[in-house]
Amino acid sequence: MSIEPAKLDWAKNWLKTSKSLFIGGEWTSSQSGKTFSSINPTNREKLTELAQAGKIDVDLAVIAARKAFENSDWKNLTRRQRAETLNKIAQLIREHRAELATLETLDNGKTYKESFIDDLPESADVFDYYAAWIDKVYGDSVPVEKGFINFTQHEPIGVCALIVPWNFPLLLACWKIAPALAMGNTVIVKPSPFTSLTLVRLCEIIQEAKVLPKGVLNLVTGDLEAGEALSRHLGINKISFTGSTVVGKKVAEGASVSNLKRVSLELGGKSPNIIFDDVKDLDAVVARSFQAMFSHKAEKCSEPTRFIIHEAIYDAFVAKIVPKAQAVLCGDPFSPETDQGAQAHEAHFNKILNYIELGKKEGATLLAGGKVDPIAEENGGFFIRPTIFGDVKNSMRIAQEEIFGPVLCLIKFKNEAEAVQIANDTHYGLAAGVYTDDAKRAHRVATQLDAGMVFVNHYGCYDFASPFGGVKQSGWGKEMARNSLEEYTKLKSIWVRYS
Ligand code: NAD
Repeated sequence: MSIEPAKLDWAKNWLKTSKSLFIGGEWTSSQSGKTFSSINPTNREKLTELAQAGKIDVDLAVIAARKAFENSDWKNLTRRQRAETLNKIAQLIREHRAELATLETLDNGKTYKESFIDDLPESADVFDYYAAWIDKVYGDSVPVEKGFINFTQHEPIGVCALIVPWNFPLLLACWKIAPALAMGNTVIVKPSPFTSLTLVRLCEIIQEAKVLPKGVLNLVTGDLEAGEALSRHLGINKISFTGSTVVGKKVAEGASVSNLKRVSLELGGKSPNIIFDDVKDLDAVVARSFQAMFSHKAEKCSEPTRFIIHEAIYDAFVAKIVPKAQAVLCGDPFSPETDQGAQAHEAHFNKILNYIELGKKEGATLLAGGKVDPIAEENGGFFIRPTIFGDVKNSMRIAQEEIFGPVLCLIKFKNEAEAVQIANDTHYGLAAGVYTDDAKRAHRVATQLDAGMVFVNHYGCYDFASPFGGVKQSGWGKEMARNSLEEYTKLKSIWVRYS
């Protein structure tokens, strides 16, 4: 695939002005006048200044979103018009692909090729996917007793708050915005303070193209205060949160002590990847597993951070994977040669380094990495070498706690039952992988793995048509597929007496 050149000059210019909140179709400063800086994780340089939303700004966004929800400009669109609106947004994202990919890389630190090839196309396509669902959501005709007709219908919920993290800032927001708008809701999006730029730009693009009525899409940039205000707001009907398990619990608490708004949570993971000794093509298994773990600088919720490897092939596996980690080139995320960019922000960078020290203290064997990349010392960027620990016990903290960075644990097992036991011995349950050339074993193990998604012989398959989401402390509910439509509608049962 050919990659359009990055728009660095354009971005430099765009970043010169500070960025505001997008409420009711207008750009506005925060009521407190507070701002915060967006920092480039590649070199610690300030990119721009953003408005910091507080409680009052959230109140204003809720008023605007409520008004737009009730307003006929949005409510009375025909299904075809609503679908066309979503298709137009998809097209606008495609037209601005290089621009948005440039901002994502400047803000998040992932390579430009990752932003351009992985994040951007899906951010656009998800709008087309949900546009096509708009006229395909049916209720049921329910077989009740004679004399009555009973049927169900799916209705929009109302004002939806969408809170997203910094690892796929635009993409994960679009995963929520598209189905929410498709079902006729209005939204307030809150990005992570570390990566707000692409969503600011998306709102500008949508405003310039006049595709949405005012107030249907609102953006509040900020952090904890805005997030808490959204969780606890009485005027919000639904909150969809993607982020850490710790904050997800606070969101659920905020919803429960306020108005019991509907909550969906996409949270953390510590996903296992079991590799049996019957695999015929170990090179292919290592290659795919390595890619699934370390792409996007290993800041992916569903990545396989615990490789559970049969003892008979453990040494061969180590001999194949360690050179891969050693060969990774960290550096300028805009260079086509770079494999791995900078970790997203300073606190996160320090957290990963602390976990690496912890792994050493816990007695795991450091096989690769274990330190910052030399380029970090040159330019101050948050670069960490891909790190692999061998001889890890699943009880170690590095195997139990989500690190969300390039730190992989290798754990040995003796038999199938032990592999499943280790895989499930975690309070997370987002994803799991199993590699085996024995079809019966594949089914047996996949059924026993306690995870929302199981990948057999190819870790990391994603498709809009397939539900995405975890169990246990990895979350509530599913995104993608028709499951997301259920998350953004309420079901009404209507009775009609006819005799
Ligand atoms: P985080 O939980 O720190 O922050 C997520 C969002 O919540 C941010 O927008 C943040 O500003 C906001 N927030 C902070 N405090 C809040 C509060 N008290 N109330 C409401 N909102 C608040 O997560 P992060 O560090 O941005 O992202 C990394 C985490 O996201 C990892 O745990 C990762 O596994 C998870 N994640 C999960 C998925 C998934 O689909 N399951 C996808 C991507 C990332």
